[in-house]
Amino acid sequence: MKESLEAHGASIGVIERYREHLPVTEATPVVSLSEGSTPLIYSPRLSAMMGRGCRVYLKYEGLNPTGSFKDRGMTVALSKAAESGARLVICASTGNTSAAAAAYAARAGIQCAVFLPSGKIAMGKLAQAFVYGAVVIAIEGNFDQCLKLVREMATEPGISIVNSINPYRLEGQKTAAFEIIDALGDAPHLQVLPVGNAGNTTAYWRGYLEYHRLHRATRLPRMLGFEAAGAAPIYYERVIEHPETAASAIRIGNPASWNMATAAIQESGGAIEIITDEEIFAAQSWLASQEGLFVEPASAASVAGLFKCRSQTACADCPVQKIPDEAIIVCTLTGHGLKDTASVLNDRAKPVPAPADKSAILSILEKTR
Ligand SMILES: *Cc1c(COP(=O)(O)O)cnc(C)c1O
Repeated sequence: MKESLEAHGASIGVIERYREHLPVTEATPVVSLSEGSTPLIYSPRLSAMMGRGCRVYLKYEGLNPTGSFKDRGMTVALSKAAESGARLVICASTGNTSAAAAAYAARAGIQCAVFLPSGKIAMGKLAQAFVYGAVVIAIEGNFDQCLKLVREMATEPGISIVNSINPYRLEGQKTAAFEIIDALGDAPHLQVLPVGNAGNTTAYWRGYLEYHRLHRATRLPRMLGFEAAGAAPIYYERVIEHPETAASAIRIGNPASWNMATAAIQESGGAIEIITDEEIFAAQSWLASQEGLFVEPASAASVAGLFKCRSQTACADCPVQKIPDEAIIVCTLTGHGLKDTASVLNDRAKPVPAPADKSAILSILEKTR
């Protein structure tokens, strides 16, 4: 398999790129869509905004094959499921996990069933699950109830769970931290992420630790995570029965990786903070209109968080205050904006009516300049 890929010059995925750091052997059939190796985009505007000579980079995970970082974990999860002879993979999902599971299951030739909280999913993600050929089941309940159901079904033979409780998912996701170190030549001083099930927070920290141990990095970053204010169980230290936020990918009331993420945050000298939906949408439009990067609402939480931490001196113990001058900051943009166009098609998003006439158009452009 590997030989034929190389022979044809195909891009490699995260398993081939980081094989020695992942739980695979020569016997593992690699199920890959050439995920990972996403761009780390320097942001002069965010850097200037942070001041003190800081450099801010955006890790644009929306450019993975199904449009989110979930692909990094799913390549490992589906490869291991195929190795174990699974007939069916299942997951509960707010959207991106199901899109990735469905795509990698299609690639592996394994049936996929996704459980969605009914009426709570972005249309682009739902379209992905269908088009990749998954069985899509709408459960009457929220995400946490879907997850409970998935756990119960795992006792059946031949069924593999590919939710973030699947340990292989986090193993694959840690490769994002490897890529950041490989690109920068060292770890950043601050890593900023949106937080839902907190799997990515856990996985990044693991990746940074492993590379640090191997002396590929001289330092470890402070981990700074942002939950949506209406779905902030880790911040408030209690399960949220009815999590509410327009950022559906982080609408989680009882995170699967809660304890591991809390440990990671503490160990790193970081923090979990909250951000309102208004701040998330403001950051989303800022990223698109100022940087040319269209991300889904949940992904904008990391940049929204930076804006907030920069402007708020009141926030005690803020990791942003503790980073040195000339610090390197990485904000991960977790998913692509095209997955959730409904969230931006509001009153403002209306075309300007105009006659098919050059001078009329020029005068409209003059007015909107
Ligand atoms: C899954 C997801 C998140 C949340 O990541 P966790 O690992 O659950 O904390 C954030 N943004 C996007 C786009 C996602 O798909």
